[in-house]
Amino acid sequence: MAYTYDDQNIFAKILRGEIPNNTVLETEHALAFRDINPQAPTHVLVIPKGPYVCFDHFAQEASDAEIVDYIRAVGEVCKAEGVEADGFRLIANAGKNGVQEVPHLHVHILAGRNLGRMLA
Ligand code: 5GP
Repeated sequence: MAYTYDDQNIFAKILRGEIPNNTVLETEHALAFRDINPQAPTHVLVIPKGPYVCFDHFAQEASDAEIVDYIRAVGEVCKAEGVEADGFRLIANAGKNGVQEVPHLHVHILAGRNLGRMLA
């Protein structure tokens, strides 16, 4: 599938510094910041700096360096937030059926409470 990136999405504006954010971690290719509407005591979003809509788009077009940096950033945030001991959940919504609100790839890191089961 060919993806079109909308550079007016809210995370693109955050990356350009047009909208403030509560940064947790910044690397060469990734930015992590707290969700504005947290669904758990820890709710951090990790985004690549490049213009990718979703994981599929990222996997197709990002460089190996971007992919490695991004995945490592997710791990670094988990470590910095101390979520490993009691457990956590990663979510990446994509597209219409995934009910993705912001069309810039992001992983939600959720922790700090029992998150319940999502899959039957
Ligand atoms: P999605 O539904 O696309 O997976 O999740 C988008 C997330 O972005 C939501 O959890 C929403 O609360 C968060 N969000 C939307 N606008 C902003 C914003 O301006 N700043 C921050 N930090 N988070 C936002």
